[in-house]
Amino acid sequence: MSDQHHFDVVVIGAGPGGYVAAIRAAQLGLKTACVEKETRLGGTCLRVGCIPSKALLESSERYIQAKDHLAEHGVDVKGVKLDLAKMMARKDGIVSNLTEGIGFLFQKNKVTRFEGVGSLTPAEGAHGVDVTAQDGSVVSLRARNVIIATGSEVATLPGIDLDGDRIGGSTEALAWSSVPKHLVVIGAGVIGLELGSVWARLGSQVTVLEYADGPLLGMDEELRKRAKRIFKKQGLKMRFGVRVTGVKALKSSCKVEVEGGEPIKCDRVLLAVGRRAHTAGLGLESVGLATDKRGRVEVNAHLETAVSGIYAVGDVIAGPMLAHKAEEEGVAAAEYIATGYGHVDYNAIPGVVYTEPEIAAVGQTEEQLKAAGVPYRKGNFPFAANGRAKALAATDGFIKILAHAETDRVLGVHMIGPRVGELIIEAAMAMSFSASSEDMARVCHAHPTLHEAVKEAALAVDGRALHS
Ligand code: FAD
Ligand code: NAD
Repeated sequence: MSDQHHFDVVVIGAGPGGYVAAIRAAQLGLKTACVEKETRLGGTCLRVGCIPSKALLESSERYIQAKDHLAEHGVDVKGVKLDLAKMMARKDGIVSNLTEGIGFLFQKNKVTRFEGVGSLTPAEGAHGVDVTAQDGSVVSLRARNVIIATGSEVATLPGIDLDGDRIGGSTEALAWSSVPKHLVVIGAGVIGLELGSVWARLGSQVTVLEYADGPLLGMDEELRKRAKRIFKKQGLKMRFGVRVTGVKALKSSCKVEVEGGEPIKCDRVLLAVGRRAHTAGLGLESVGLATDKRGRVEVNAHLETAVSGIYAVGDVIAGPMLAHKAEEEGVAAAEYIATGYGHVDYNAIPGVVYTEPEIAAVGQTEEQLKAAGVPYRKGNFPFAANGRAKALAATDGFIKILAHAETDRVLGVHMIGPRVGELIIEAAMAMSFSASSEDMARVCHAHPTLHEAVKEAALAVDGRALHS
């Protein structure tokens, strides 16, 4: 085998976990290759996830603002029209630009790219990765270390076959060429609410069917309750405690069957009931690796699998399925390999739902603290009492800070309101530095900003908010 095919690190998968791991490994002086089966780099996040969904959320929000809300600012706009093809083309342009950008980053950092499906193979004194290209040709690589970063794919339900047209997952719902009259969304999780919001803003009647008692299962109860109220007010029809048992594509419509209820007729269905780890074709078994009950690759605290020198990061392992979590792990895996040291602060990984208003959280919920018997104090501050939120005409929502009752250390921060996806970073930073709520309250915040609501919520922990 030529020296060209020997590497210090071979990364399988070029999503946020994989491409970041490859760049960091190369920065640390390791000879690095990255294997990706798709033509475009960037993974789920750049191609069919975070980026295209945020582009459509932004465009659809501007449409609804122009159509329904600018008048309140004294701006009279008439004849607002939707050009869906242009909106989709803009989204596609952003995706192309960013996926090409990863190619440039690989060149700049001297990461060698291989296009094809990567599978692990046993190899004498090293690890083997075979790369099978679309034309069937195979290139065999050797590596001292492998990082598995193969991500996740849409989870399906028994009785539902995605037909790539009327019954789709998030990938299809990011590219529909017309606005469905009636869209049924199965699952009131992050994807259901973000993409349900996009199509509702563009004119669909949206019905969300959710098995749990409310949206965003797992988030803080107070946030969930407020979110439920806000989305209902926006016109999303939400039904909870509903188990979907099947979906049938009819000639020009779909029929959604639910347990103990009448079937629902609609034009399109978006299935958004979660994602599962993607390990098909990876050849885990050939090197003696098994998956856990949920099909995920198991790793230790250093992100290393049971086979020395094989690491795994991102959606394919346990933990929240978030791009920034995958990135942190990608960096840490490369650093463990190069230096023996790495770090991911799993207590301070923020999560953001990019609806309007946004919803964001970091750390523990009130329910988790109660269940663990941790004594806590809480401070709440409403955006209705924040001057900048009033200027934005976006006063629905609040910020809640939970701090340890004795040490005052911040344990969790939960927000719903304008642009809280940007505000949550202040809380994540505070938690990363083990700050107390008093530390947060003592920081001078510029006026008038939405950030002042963070300071006020921190003051409220001690019962001394100034503006409510
Ligand atoms: P992935 O991004 O899934 O990348 C894995 C890559 O590996 C893929 O490119 C795949 O083609 C490749 N691959 C798989 N198997 C092989 C193989 N055998 N050989 C070669 N290549 C292989 N997260 C956020 O943090 N913020 C958001 O706003 C957000 N929005 C989302 C919106 C949607 C609609 C979806 C679906 C997801 C969203 N996510 C969001 C989640 C986020 O996309 C994932 O958490 C993230 O992409 C995980 O990164 P990863 O590198 O682990 O895997
Ligand atoms: P999710 O886990 O967030 O929500 C799935 C929902 O479907 C749950 O509420 C569940 O109770 C419900 N459900 C399951 N089976 C059902 C059934 N038979 N009938 C009715 N409801 C049912 O999953 P998702 O929304 O598909 O998102 C997948 C992943 O992608 C998430 O882990 C998320 O972290 C990630 N993501 C993140 C972002 C973001 O960070 N903004 C955006 C999109 C996706």
